Amino acid sequence: MGISTPESRKAAKQHYADRNRKTKRVMEGDIAGVKKEEEAEATYRENQIKEFLKKKKHAAPVYKPKKKGTSLTKQKEALKAKYAYKEYVKSIDWGERKKQLTDAYGHACELCQKSGLIHVHHNNYKTRGHEHDEDLMILCKDCHDKFHEARHVAKGDTIAPIEKRCNVCAEAPHISISKEPRDIKLCAACLNIFFRRLWGCNYKNAIIGRPHFNVEFVI
Ligand SMILES: [Zn+2]
Ligand SMILES: [Zn+2]
Ligand SMILES: [Zn+2]
Repeated sequence: MGISTPESRKAAKQHYADRNRKTKRVMEGDIAGVKKEEEAEATYRENQIKEFLKKKKHAAPVYKPKKKGTSLTKQKEALKAKYAYKEYVKSIDWGERKKQLTDAYGHACELCQKSGLIHVHHNNYKTRGHEHDEDLMILCKDCHDKFHEARHVAKGDTIAPIEKRCNVCAEAPHISISKEPRDIKLCAACLNIFFRRLWGCNYKNAIIGRPHFNVEFVI
């Protein structure tokens, strides 16, 4: 544990001697002796830990580079963006954008076709205020929750070109599903979340009895 000093070398030597003694006691079947050796071993370990912590306390502070995004300015920026988003989703503009989308593609969840209370999911926030259809998706609460639970959502700037954007996470898709009312593109990770987590099966089983699904491998 740590740097070798005359004391630590002495302690280590003692430790090995103790350990050898314990082996001897075991061989002899000396239960009381084994117990005593075990106690000595535990004390040795405790002392090692104490010594280590003492050294750590007095050691010079280690230089740690600042983690990206943890500075106060960054935190403030993130907070501002969060509030800007909250304001935006309450705005008339967003209300109109949502209506445009549901007018074009309907009021049913684009993944499971359930209708009722629907959410409009943003697969990235970079295009907020000027979203393409590819940046948005009509989802039921269950599908929406599952995707956010899995935390497979757009991470800032790393969004795929518009024609290759996964409708859920904005990464490049491998698979497209459902041609009607529009071509839904899902990346492999989102497809996996959708079929495995929501329906508990693979895509081959999922499309049986669901004619609106047309699973197609893009690559
Ligand atoms: Zn759904
Ligand atoms: Zn969402
Ligand atoms: Zn995706």
